[in-house]
Amino acid sequence: MISLIIPCYNEQDALPIFHSETTKVMNGMGCEYELLFINDGSKDETLAILKALAEKDQHVSYLSFSRNFGKEAAMYAGFCNAHGDYIAIMDADMQDPPELLPKMMEILKTGEYDSVATRRISRKGEPPIRSFFARKFYQIINTISDSDIVDGARDFRLMKKEMVDAIVSMSEYNRFSKGIFGWIGFRTYWLPYENVERVAGETKWSFWKLFKYAIDGIINFSQAPLSLASWFGMLMTFFSFALLFLIVIRKLAFGDPVAGWASTICVIIFIGGIQLFCLGIMGQYIAKTYMETKQRPHYIISETNVENVVKLK
Ligand code: UDP
Ligand code: MG
Repeated sequence: MISLIIPCYNEQDALPIFHSETTKVMNGMGCEYELLFINDGSKDETLAILKALAEKDQHVSYLSFSRNFGKEAAMYAGFCNAHGDYIAIMDADMQDPPELLPKMMEILKTGEYDSVATRRISRKGEPPIRSFFARKFYQIINTISDSDIVDGARDFRLMKKEMVDAIVSMSEYNRFSKGIFGWIGFRTYWLPYENVERVAGETKWSFWKLFKYAIDGIINFSQAPLSLASWFGMLMTFFSFALLFLIVIRKLAFGDPVAGWASTICVIIFIGGIQLFCLGIMGQYIAKTYMETKQRPHYIISETNVENVVKLK
């Protein structure tokens, strides 16, 4: 049995297309399946559409959050409640082509891999500035983090149940799935494909939201920024010794005291800036630790048609 997990946030226009296309593909594959939609606090008719789909199609089940918890929480809820032996995560906007599923299944059936993940080979149709920052992000995070985070990787992947159990066991509150997938290991086959534009509606990710997500990813999967303060400190101590030496020599040899209010102020502001910057980095880690210690649920389900659902986790 295959479970497809589909996080939906304001996807009223895309959902009917997604449902009919995916149903065609799944019927073609001829295996048992469930479509598990997660309504992530949509403000449009998404929930009503999901209910209607569930009425006429017994493969459809839905979980509806009490508010918008974000795609990461939606995926986690899906993983906690999926019943399949194979579990896939897909976007509702058809950017993850369901036609790839039979091929992914074939690769898994060979037994050589535990998951098949997709990677887009081009960033066509994306603003150049966004591509630039995305590339930089992958470069940075791969340098400073242990887990392997693949450039252009999408969340679209088909996994064996064992792998999903491992993901569920990572119950951290600040979730960054691309990092989690890499961290847990397992044998992953990368399936490249051309980027597809979404069929309807618009993207929920503004540049700012993506930027914050990138920072989250770095903080969640690397401690390197924390050591920045020590490096700055060492560098500056070294520099100040050198300067001290220079000034003493100058005073002894030429007798001229160093003049300058301006230079002093510059140094004070410079050091103050670096100190605040480092404090800010520490603050980020402390804030994450604070959220983790509260152990709040990742999501709250207010409505569903699934029996024995894990309502809070
Ligand atoms: N999504 C979600 N909660 C959110 C934002 C997005 O469940 O807060 C879902 C959205 O409905 C879609 C998927 O996550 O199915 C990917 O979102 P989107 O297509 O906007 O992102 P993009 O493909 O542009 O990166
Ligand atoms: Mg999309």
